[in-house]
Amino acid sequence: MTKKLLLLPGDGIGPEVLGQVERLLAHLTSYQGLDLTIETALFGGASIDACGQPITDAVVAQAKASDAVLLGAVGGPQWVDVARDLRPEMGLLRLRKEMDVFANLRPAICFESLADASGLKRHLVAGLDIVFVRELTGGVYFGTPRGIETLSDGSRRGFDNQVYTSHEIRRVAKVAFELARQRANKVTSLEKSNVMESGLLWRQEVTALHAEHYSDVTLEHMYADNAAMQMVRAPQQFDVLLTDNLFGDVLSDLAAACTGSIGLLPSAALGNPGTPGLYEPIHGSAPDIAGTGKANPIAAILSLEMALRWSLDELKLADRVFEAVKSALNQGARTADLGGDLSTEAMGDAILHALG
Ligand code: NAD
Repeated sequence: MTKKLLLLPGDGIGPEVLGQVERLLAHLTSYQGLDLTIETALFGGASIDACGQPITDAVVAQAKASDAVLLGAVGGPQWVDVARDLRPEMGLLRLRKEMDVFANLRPAICFESLADASGLKRHLVAGLDIVFVRELTGGVYFGTPRGIETLSDGSRRGFDNQVYTSHEIRRVAKVAFELARQRANKVTSLEKSNVMESGLLWRQEVTALHAEHYSDVTLEHMYADNAAMQMVRAPQQFDVLLTDNLFGDVLSDLAAACTGSIGLLPSAALGNPGTPGLYEPIHGSAPDIAGTGKANPIAAILSLEMALRWSLDELKLADRVFEAVKSALNQGARTADLGGDLSTEAMGDAILHALG
């Protein structure tokens, strides 16, 4: 059956980088046998302007009825003053929650040809290939109670709630163990079980699941603060890193910096088998360069690569797209964030050319 892909370009550089994804999709359908129905819808600030909310019920339904959803980016200075629950980023949180995509896969790959663009020394990062599996729909970003209250003495108190159930921990840990089996077979689980109760539960549940079903996979536990240090000291020691929502947010950005540019990194958010996946570059809408043609489209193109691999059953095409990106970079194609002068479109040209 023909699979369905929903594109949500969003704001800022989102439509610019997804424009290159659309060119690639046109090539794959015309010349490489891809059979796909592609739809596009409004999202983020663009949806606020047109419909008064960052995502409409109709678009949520459209996303749930697709096999994969590919986002550009949301947000920008135009929408900082809109009510908090109508902010573009709230549309993204709602979509993740409604699609129940609880496992966020964030690869951090350092292409050999880009090792010198990293802030770390070449020998630490060349060939780096690690992946974060971050819990995405629970933890402190969603826990209640939360709020800001005024105390009797007139001072204010802000509070959030870090909360995890064993079910939430086990289902994301399962994704990490399964993924590790397809890679170097090692999971490093990160938490702060020394000072947090939810961290202790995290360690206990991961340990139990490992003993029950995944004892063939090497499991290592590490405190999240130590992991931050290890990430810049010796990142190659890792294979799959399993984290909660908050630590994963911070540490995967740190890993991103090790690879050279935020413009290179894709992500996937997956739910239960058979449900649609949500794919997006990890970067935001980059208002500082939006409209200048400087955005690197590689993170968006590699997000398509992940969608082909994880939701659209097109493993061969996914491999081809990955190799085309690698080959374009090997041949010296560089946008400004990588120290070059190619425009967004010219980088798209280089990757299309490498696809053959
Ligand atoms: P950002 O990722 O948009 O930009 C950070 C820096 O990286 C900027 O200097 C930008 O120019 C650069 N950059 C980002 N993507 C690039 C690319 N593809 N090519 C070249 N350079 C690139 O983060 P920010 O500036 O903190 O946030 C801007 C807006 O994006 C905010 O409104 C924020 O809320 C939103 N945001 C959205 C998402 C998302 O849609 N998932 C993620 C992060 C931030």
